[in-house]
Amino acid sequence: MALTLYVDGDRWRAHLRAALDAEPGLVPVAKGNGYGFGVPRLARKAQRLGVDTLAVGQYDEVAAVESRFDGSILVLTPWRPFVDAPIEGPEARRLIHTVGRPEDLTELVRRARIPRGGPRVVLELLTSMRRHGFSAAGLRTAVASVPGSVTVEGIALHLPLSETGDHAAEVDRLMTDVVAADLDVRTIWVSHLTRAGLAQLGASWPDFTFRPRVGTALWLGDRGALQVRATVLDAHPVARGDAYGYRGRTAPRKGTVLVVSGGTSHGIGLEAPTGDSSLRSRAGTLARGGLDAAGLVRSPYAVDGKLRFFAEPPHMQVSMLFLPSGVPVPAVGDEVDVRVRFTATHVDQVEIS
Ligand SMILES: *Cc1c(COP(=O)(O)O)cnc(C)c1O
Repeated sequence: MALTLYVDGDRWRAHLRAALDAEPGLVPVAKGNGYGFGVPRLARKAQRLGVDTLAVGQYDEVAAVESRFDGSILVLTPWRPFVDAPIEGPEARRLIHTVGRPEDLTELVRRARIPRGGPRVVLELLTSMRRHGFSAAGLRTAVASVPGSVTVEGIALHLPLSETGDHAAEVDRLMTDVVAADLDVRTIWVSHLTRAGLAQLGASWPDFTFRPRVGTALWLGDRGALQVRATVLDAHPVARGDAYGYRGRTAPRKGTVLVVSGGTSHGIGLEAPTGDSSLRSRAGTLARGGLDAAGLVRSPYAVDGKLRFFAEPPHMQVSMLFLPSGVPVPAVGDEVDVRVRFTATHVDQVEIS
């Protein structure tokens, strides 16, 4: 009765291993819905892969990884005075904080009760993302004016996504700022660079180590190893004009209302109607009796190789699909493929072969 993520275990593990072999300094990212797998499972995986550092998105995710992964934990969201972060005790030594404002660096160092070296931090430099980070000048003065011990583990650059992953020009500019800041750091934590882009950076700046923080391209990098499936829960034949659903909508033609697992609580949402929505094409679809012209919206559920229309908007935990007559109707208990975004879907279970 569930939405299940099926993983071809051998293939997935081989991909993870290959990704790490190709980029030994890689820092896996486990955050949010854990890219469909859940953060705890990714933490165990990172432990088995033997990486020295695992990144989480925010402080409330630290608890889910610290008992499963025994290396350093990098928190990607910059520390702020109002976050609830563990900053004392032995476990606090495993945390690497991201800091993006001078006043936060001062305050974190003032509050942290960590002997030997103070809190470990990565200083984020503002990129063209303009999300968080020090200005180049701010970086220069920040460390000089810290009121106590701090261990600077490097500089972080969070780059926008790009088609080619080629941010060479921007990174070169930022690296010039890093060098000018004259900090005693040699590690640059980066995101969203291609392997080629990383190699090129390493060649241009041989005194620095570039460590890519990777989520999607790691955990979801071999899509063929992953498949989400839903269970068919019910099937009701309908004639044209028969009413169904919360809204008493009527069937646009003869077919089957198919009830499948997965709803809004899993992140199943209404997708934009696919294809050309111009008036002319709508008129064409209408003439052919297309279901989108009847106001139905394409769903991510595939039956008989095609994405089917929602019979009505998804419910909390189930969805109702409309199958036109002629499409083979799967049996109750069968599973159907669901083409969802893994980062936005909460599956009920993960089955790794
Ligand atoms: C989420 C995140 C990443 C990983 O992003 P993916 O696109 O999933 O690889 C890297 N760096 C930062 C700062 C992030 O927040």
